[in-house]
Amino acid sequence: QPSIVFDNVVFGYDPDRTILHGLSFEVPAGEAFAVVGPSGAGKSTLARLLFRFYDPQSGRILIDGQDIAQVTQASLRAAIGIVPQDSVLFNDTIGYNIGYGRDGAGAEEIDAAARGAALTGLIERLPKGLATEVGERGLKLSGGEKQRVAIARTLVKNPPILILDEATSALDTRTEQDILATLHRVAEHRTSLSIAHRLSTIADANRILVLNEGRLAESGTHTQLLRRE
Ligand code: ADP
Ligand code: ADP
Repeated sequence: QPSIVFDNVVFGYDPDRTILHGLSFEVPAGEAFAVVGPSGAGKSTLARLLFRFYDPQSGRILIDGQDIAQVTQASLRAAIGIVPQDSVLFNDTIGYNIGYGRDGAGAEEIDAAARGAALTGLIERLPKGLATEVGERGLKLSGGEKQRVAIARTLVKNPPILILDEATSALDTRTEQDILATLHRVAEHRTSLSIAHRLSTIADANRILVLNEGRLAESGTHTQLLRRE
């Protein structure tokens, strides 16, 4: 179970405009951690740095004590699973989208991974099973169903770190709550970082960091932050 450390991270997309102003925080191993803040605060940027889509101008990011600048892209991608807000699915079967080969290859490995209660729960709620064709010529999935497939696709790889970047924020409240309940069970057993713009969606996080204009505004548990509001 890896930990995540941001150590005085400075970053801007353009050299003359700093987005993250020396950000430091630590996600202990196995903890469900959340980052909230207004739009433009730098939340997605933080996730992109963790994935090394970009490198910081200064400061360090450590996973499990190791500077990610020293880690290969391949091992970084194996260590981190990310679920974005708007997942794009292939025009293919649900099974293929989750990770089966077109001919069903890999089904055994995936079945083994899928036996986790959470993943089974995600798949059971999908229409008509893994062989269902989705997309342009197949079944149109609702936003919630699409996100279930996307989350299952990420969980199948069993990544030690799970990043949810506004993964449920485009959904209606009921679907969101349903998916969050599943994710809560998953997150309990791994290091996770949930990015959100509303406190209500991250009530289960062990620790919440409030980001504002690229700076740590405050941090605490859900109850502590609500009391301060
Ligand atoms: P959040 O996820 O909190 O809404 P972002 O990390 O997406 O915030 O954005 C933080 C700031 O960085 C914003 O001012 C945004 O305009 C800017 N930004 C985001 N992505 C890019 C990019 N690819 N190029 C230039 N500026 C960007
Ligand atoms: P990803 O979204 O996969 O992390 P990138 O890291 O390349 O991809 O960032 C591109 C994202 O940033 C796109 O979603 C784009 O809409 C957004 N973006 C690009 N430039 C800006 C900007 N100046 N302000 C805000 N968002 C931006």
